[in-house]
Amino acid sequence: MTQYALLIDNEYCTGCHSCEVACKNERDLPLGQWGIKVLELGPWKLPDNKHWEHRYVPVLSQLCNLCYERTHDDHGSATPACALHCLANVIEYGTLDELAAKMANKGKMASIFIP
Ligand code: SF4
Ligand code: SF4
Repeated sequence: MTQYALLIDNEYCTGCHSCEVACKNERDLPLGQWGIKVLELGPWKLPDNKHWEHRYVPVLSQLCNLCYERTHDDHGSATPACALHCLANVIEYGTLDELAAKMANKGKMASIFIP
């Protein structure tokens, strides 16, 4: 059976939080609960004393069901709400095989989530 997943490229995430709101609306989650949450890493200076570590890192919670209703409708091809509304286009839905191939070039700057 084909395994689907989300790839989030946090190198270019702007920390806009649109994904959080889109998920909350899509899943009708109660106050204080999130399917995706954007965490902040840094800022701190790297040992080369020139560059900084400062990234926004979106993380899926246990409440994420990979938008089951959207992705398993009659057509089976709808995009998850968070990916559809990401302003920087850094959330990608696809098969684990496709996403793993893309992840190979990203090092620590991306994450794959398999709900
Ligand atoms: S895939 Fe759907 S349920 Fe999961 S975080 Fe994105 S919007 Fe929320
Ligand atoms: S919508 Fe996209 S750019 Fe904005 S915080 Fe979420 S992942 Fe980052």
